[in-house]
Amino acid sequence: MTKITVAKGDGIGPEIMDATLEIILAAGAQIEIDEIEVGEKVYLAGNTSGIAPESWETIRKNKIFLKAPITTPQGGGYKSLNVTTRKFLGLYANVRPCMSLHPFVKTKHPIMDVVIVRENEEDLYAGIEHQQTDEVVQCLKLISRPGCEKIVRYAFEYAKQQNRKKVTCFTKDNIMKQTDGLFHQVFDEIAKDYPEIENEHWIIDIGAAKMADTPEAFDVIVMPNLYGDVLSDVAAQITGSVGMAGSANIGETCAMFEAIHGSAPRRAGQNLANPSGLLQGAIMMLNHIGQTDIAEKVQNAWLKTLEEGIHTYDIYNENTSKQKVGTKEFAQAVIKNLGKKPDQLKAVSYAHNSALQLPSYKRKPAAEKTLEGVDLFIHWEGSSADTLAAQIKQIENQGVQLSMITNRGIKVWPDGFPETFCTDHWRCRFKPNSASSFSKKDIIELLQKATESQIDVIKTENLYSFNGKAAYSLGQGQ
Ligand code: NAD
Repeated sequence: MTKITVAKGDGIGPEIMDATLEIILAAGAQIEIDEIEVGEKVYLAGNTSGIAPESWETIRKNKIFLKAPITTPQGGGYKSLNVTTRKFLGLYANVRPCMSLHPFVKTKHPIMDVVIVRENEEDLYAGIEHQQTDEVVQCLKLISRPGCEKIVRYAFEYAKQQNRKKVTCFTKDNIMKQTDGLFHQVFDEIAKDYPEIENEHWIIDIGAAKMADTPEAFDVIVMPNLYGDVLSDVAAQITGSVGMAGSANIGETCAMFEAIHGSAPRRAGQNLANPSGLLQGAIMMLNHIGQTDIAEKVQNAWLKTLEEGIHTYDIYNENTSKQKVGTKEFAQAVIKNLGKKPDQLKAVSYAHNSALQLPSYKRKPAAEKTLEGVDLFIHWEGSSADTLAAQIKQIENQGVQLSMITNRGIKVWPDGFPETFCTDHWRCRFKPNSASSFSKKDIIELLQKATESQIDVIKTENLYSFNGKAAYSLGQGQ
């Protein structure tokens, strides 16, 4: 018996959760349910995270969380409960299987069977944003080695367990050489441990286009958070319906399972909603807690029901469906099919599907880190980079000189183009001349002189090399 935390959520949440629990309990799931309240009511009661502190206790104690969709009220500083849960509980892997059920669910991609493994904690979703000049805002993109190693290893271990043949990595490392570059580099390193699994890397733009056009070319795709967020919805949608896909959010100690769709408030309370997405989440949960036989039984009964043409309104189609049913009737039809296997769709076998056991992250010995210079970011409302350079050069000292100015990453001094559009946000790079070394004292001196000269320094970024390799981007055009 495994104790799980259940939240019925908002909108269609309670109906699809009731249907899902009824099905898995009828199949023999050995679970004990601890129910908590999350979502709209909790938000509107003044809790901006959508969850009460005592509910966290329950989730952390039980470790397994099955969650129906919730409604996030618009505006008012309400924080997404999903994002908070993933980060608080360290749910680093978001796994979304996206499979076509042709010819029973209409799709342009009849032989699609793709699993998206999305990094769930890092990237631009760290939510570290600042405005420091009138015209420019910024968001810090954080990618870490442990983050990359955990998610990439998860993708390969998942592929191995599921007997999948290929893992593809999507990044934009031709542009983001440091951040996406690290993700790609770790992918190449870890792929070597799995010689039996094919591996490949695609630049995200053409990779995404290929996935939307020819999804059968892919098997497991691993990617950083933002790309994964967008493309996992695309992948689910092109199988025929976002209402059919579930997702697992996996951490080292806790895990959360859900449907990928929202609370569909307009459909609520009418016995209309398709419970399949949440049921898929629950099946992944059963596998995760080792009840693989029950998971398999439910999945085969679900496939059989869809094959029989018993469909909710969202996938009902006059040519392929036989009966349009509501949420409750759909659940009853699946229960009736427990123990049966589909005839045309491929029956599943989950004998080896329990939770993956991954090695914990081991920090590597520290590299030799050398300070090589500094970027001072400056708020300045002029338009000529040459004028700015003349001002900034006044804060140089004997050994440390202005080497470059960029505006939005494009080099505008020395030898800039007058055509380059400039904002009020300038990066001034200082480096030691060849005879000098550079230390933090030089940065303090630069800042001191800048303050005296009323130059508005809004932030600094130290420039380092690691084991002799420069670890900062050049200016575009440099
Ligand atoms: P939605 O996914 O709720 O609905 C999009 C469309 O899909 C609607 O037409 C809806 O009727 C249909 N649909 C979704 N699930 C269905 C199902 N199971 N059966 C039949 N039809 C279904 O997206 P939305 O309208 O953008 O968002 C509604 C609310 O849900 C918002 O408050 C949003 O913040 C929230 N939301 C929550 C989650 C979550 O809790 N994981 C995820 C996404 C959105």
